[in-house]
Amino acid sequence: MRIDILTLFPQMCDTVMSESIIGRARKSGKVEINCIDIRDYTLDKHRRVDDKPYGGGMGMVMAPQPIYDCFRSLCEEIGARPHLIYLTPQGKTLTQERVKELAELDNIALLCGHYEGIDERVIEELKPEEISVGDYVLTGGELPALIVADSVSRMLPGVLSDDECFEEESHYNSLLEHPQYTHPSEWNGREVPEVLLSGNHAKVDEWRRQKSLERTLSRRPDLLEKAELTDKDIKYLTKLKQD
Ligand code: SAM
Repeated sequence: MRIDILTLFPQMCDTVMSESIIGRARKSGKVEINCIDIRDYTLDKHRRVDDKPYGGGMGMVMAPQPIYDCFRSLCEEIGARPHLIYLTPQGKTLTQERVKELAELDNIALLCGHYEGIDERVIEELKPEEISVGDYVLTGGELPALIVADSVSRMLPGVLSDDECFEEESHYNSLLEHPQYTHPSEWNGREVPEVLLSGNHAKVDEWRRQKSLERTLSRRPDLLEKAELTDKDIKYLTKLKQD
């Protein structure tokens, strides 16, 4: 898969995407991530990419021309139109379900706004999918774009090792994950649950499933509506609700 991040701060994005699991995945060619500087496409002789908002008001607005030309150039280079996403607090909130769908695509392009946002006409022209990372406002779309790039990349084959398998993690099946423990078995007077030291895999699996159901019920009961539950799960949840 190829992911292109269209931004005024390519170095910021590239630095984050060069570390740890995603950095290794890029190096080994499991995912291609490019950070493209929108400023390289401005036709302004002073290399400006923004201007004051029409109608007055605070802040600056990113002009349409550099963004449009940057995206057209990307389409030409790829030889196809990548799925374009504009990161905006006005978009639909990102979910693990949408992440899974995005990971099936060959090319996605992530457009980062900055300042007061981007000129509405370029949104009308390019018709991007609009994604938000939550109901709060950040200074730019770079952190949200990195969230999309990270969450999508880790779903690609071979990016995570077996140990880091995402299928048991929170939100994958609309459940929150069970608690995790590592060495030492006793820390600050707190012990790791005995069942995890038992070596009995069936018992460990059962305990983990129960903890996952307990956590989801107490922290995010709304998720249970979409979760795939067995008869045993439903029985356990009913018991929890009665207690
Ligand atoms: N004036 C805009 C508004 O009220 O909708 C907010 C602009 S914000 C300060 C600048 C840029 O940050 C946006 O264009 C967007 O790309 C990004 N951004 C900020 N918060 C975001 C969020 N919650 N999710 C996705 N992108 C966000």
